[in-house]
Amino acid sequence: MQIIDSHCHLNILKKKQGIAETLAEAKQNCVVGMLNIGVDLETADEVIKQSELQSNIWASVGVHPCHCPIEPMSDGDLEYIKTLSEHPKVIAIGETGLDFFHTKPEDSQHQFDYFIKQVELSKMLDYPVIIHCRNARKEVIEILQSHKATKGVMHCFAEDWQTAKAALDLGFYISFSGILTYPKSIELKEVAKQVPEERLLVETDSPYLSPQPFRSKYNQPAYVKHTLAHLAELRGTEVTEMAKITTQNFERCFNVKVQSSLVK
Ligand SMILES: [Zn+2]
Repeated sequence: MQIIDSHCHLNILKKKQGIAETLAEAKQNCVVGMLNIGVDLETADEVIKQSELQSNIWASVGVHPCHCPIEPMSDGDLEYIKTLSEHPKVIAIGETGLDFFHTKPEDSQHQFDYFIKQVELSKMLDYPVIIHCRNARKEVIEILQSHKATKGVMHCFAEDWQTAKAALDLGFYISFSGILTYPKSIELKEVAKQVPEERLLVETDSPYLSPQPFRSKYNQPAYVKHTLAHLAELRGTEVTEMAKITTQNFERCFNVKVQSSLVK
């Protein structure tokens, strides 16, 4: 079985657990690849360097809505992302999006600016864009629609079916995290049953959002198998089949080929 973690933060996880141990545990748990996600430009280099460690580790570059300065995104920063995106292991832009959990929409002009510019850049580069959406489903979908985004991933999906449907209609993939395994995620479990098979992805968002049964512990790519197993159970599919489906979806979404194991 080959499982891909479509969203993790190895550079943040490494503060809790060494990268060699992380990759070894992943391998032991059939997690043969991962997309290492950038959240700011200060750590972008490190995120890309980690993707060079093994063949099935890839990277994204971008600025997370909770990491963007309270000012418009500069041309220099956009240019920098563009330069970094030329690295052979960089396969996506983001994560970007809107987060109104900490700041109200009316105080978030900077988030809108960073989001729109990164969506436009992803289109120009023809890369999928990784979307972070928290308490902002309406605004996120409106921007993706009005800017005619067609390629990307709704990461750590925890919204309603209407939002999933709108993202699917644009051509986006829906990535489920440990949130799916929580007993209280009743509505989300129903959404997960309805997403077309060819648009499903699984992720950890590690070191955050550990799935059951590790909720009190930090998360790591190895644990994505618990989310995968839960998704398979919800949909009445074999785990091995669900692994195959999500791995093929990852390859199609990001236009990459997953090698048979985590080799250099
Ligand atoms: Zn993330």
